[in-house]
Amino acid sequence: MAEAPKRVVIIGAGQAGGQAAYSLRLGGFAGAITIIGDEPQPPYQRPPLSKAYLKGELDAERLFLKPVEYYPEHGVELLTGVAATRIDLDAHTVELSSGAAVGWDRLVIATGSRPRRLSVEGADLGGILELRTLDDVDRLKAVAHPDARLVVVGAGYIGLEAAAVANQLGLKVTVLEAMPQVLSRVAGPEIGQFYNRVHRAAGVDIRTGARLAAFEGAGHVTGVRLDDGEVIPADLVLVGVGVLPNMELAAEAGLVCGNGIVVDGEMRTSQPDVYAIGDVAWRPLAHYGREGRLESVHNAIEGGKIVAASILGLPAPALDVPWFWSDQYDLKLQTAGLWTGADERILRGDPQSRSFAVFYLKEGRVIAVDAVNAAPEYLVGKKLVAAQATVAPGELADKSISMKDIGARALS
Ligand code: FAD
Ligand code: NAP
Repeated sequence: MAEAPKRVVIIGAGQAGGQAAYSLRLGGFAGAITIIGDEPQPPYQRPPLSKAYLKGELDAERLFLKPVEYYPEHGVELLTGVAATRIDLDAHTVELSSGAAVGWDRLVIATGSRPRRLSVEGADLGGILELRTLDDVDRLKAVAHPDARLVVVGAGYIGLEAAAVANQLGLKVTVLEAMPQVLSRVAGPEIGQFYNRVHRAAGVDIRTGARLAAFEGAGHVTGVRLDDGEVIPADLVLVGVGVLPNMELAAEAGLVCGNGIVVDGEMRTSQPDVYAIGDVAWRPLAHYGREGRLESVHNAIEGGKIVAASILGLPAPALDVPWFWSDQYDLKLQTAGLWTGADERILRGDPQSRSFAVFYLKEGRVIAVDAVNAAPEYLVGKKLVAAQATVAPGELADKSISMKDIGARALS
C-alpha cells in the first residue's frame, strides 16, 4: 500500500487553496499543511469585492474565509506576501520569493487567474484600474468620488456589477463593450438585453459594439478614444475584460497545460502527486461530456473538496452542476449549468416584471437556466439541469404551471 502523504503544500491562498486546507483538516489529515499566498491577506472571498465591499457595506475581515486564528489553531502554516517562484517536480520542492524552499509529498496548485490587460496606447496611464484583489478595490474606493466620470471597459460580470455600484454611489458611468450584447460570454441574449435596459434606465451609458482605440491623458487618464474618433471624458477607468489562468509556474515545471493546467476528475495534473484546482484548472465537466475552465466560487470549493478526498483516499464528493450568481441593483441573477451549445431558449415570465427565467435546451434536454429574482425557477431548474431532464417547452413557458409541478413530472 502507498505511504500516506505527510506534507501537503498549497500554492495560492485563495478560495480554492483555502478550501483544500480546510477540507484536509476536516477529513482528518494529520500531516503538515503549508499555504503559500502572494497577497498580504489570509484566504478571502472575492464576490463582495464588486458588490457590498465596493459599496462600503462590509469590513475587509468579513471577507476572510476563516478567522486568522484558524490557521495556527489547526496547524496550517500560512505564508502570506510570499510568491512561489519555481516548482521542482523531481526534488519535490517549491522555491519561494523569500529565497526559502519547501518540500512536499503532495502539491496543490491553486494560483487562480489574473485580469487580462489591454495593449492599447495609454494603457499604463494613472487612473486605469482593475478589480481582482482587496487591494485593487481599496485603490478604486479611494478615488471613486461621487460625480467622478468612470468609464468601465468590458460588460461582463465585473464591469456590470461595478457599474451598478458606482452608479448607486453617484458616479457618472459609461460602459464600453466590444460585443453586440452585454454579459455575452456568460448568458443568452434575453438576459443581456434585460441588463442593458436596467442599466440604461438607472442612468448608465452602455455602449455595445464599442471599439476602444486608446486612452488619452498625460500621466493620468482624461479620456477614452474609440475607433470612430469619439473621446469619452474619464477621471477613472476600470478594465474588466476577462482573466488569464496563472499557469506559468506549472508550465515551466513541465506539467501539461492548455488554456489552464490540465487535470483529471480527481484534479490530478499530468504528474499524479500534483493537483490543480480553481480558476487555473482545465477540468472534466462531468455534466457536459467535455473539458473546460470554470471561474466561480462553486468550482473553487468543489475542487478543494475533491483534492482533499483524493489525498485522504476517501470517496470523491458528489459533483454539483456549475452554478453562479450576480447581484446588480435589486436584482439577483442565479445561473445553473452552462448554456453554450443550446439549440433552444425558453423564456418564462415577463422581463418587465423584473422576475423571469430563461431555460436553455439542447436536443430537448435542459442544460442551463438563468433566473432573475426567480428562486423557484433556479432551484427546480438546477435539478432539471443536473438530470438533463426533458421538459416540453410549452410547459416551461407556462407560468400557470408551477415549477414544483414541472419538477415533479420531469424528475419522477
Ligand atoms: P483566487 O481566489 O484568485 O486565488 C488564487 C490566489 O493565488 C490569489 O491570491 C493569487 O494572488 C495567488 N497566487 C497566484 N500565483 C501565486 C504564486 N506564484 N505564489 C503564491 N500565490 C499565488 N464567482 C462566483 O461564483 N460568484 C460571484 O459573485 C463572483 N464574484 C466575483 C467578483 C470579483 C470582483 C472577482 C474578481 C471574482 C468573482 N468571482 C465570483 C470569481 C471567484 O471569486 C473566483 O472564481 C475564485 O476566487 C477562484 O478561486 P481560486 O482560488 O482559483 O483563485
Ligand atoms: P468576463 O465575464 O470574461 O467579461 C469580460 C467582457 O469584456 C467580455 O464580454 C469581453 O468580450 C469584454 N471585452 C474584452 N475585451 C474588450 C475590449 N477591448 N473592449 C470592450 N470589451 C471587451 O470577465 P470579467 O467580467 O472581467 O470578470 C473577471 C473574472 O471575475 C471572471 O472570472 C468572472 O467570472 C469573475 N467574476 C464573477 C462574478 C460573478 O460570478 N458574479 C462577478 C465578478 C467577477 P469578449 O467575450 O469579446 O472577450
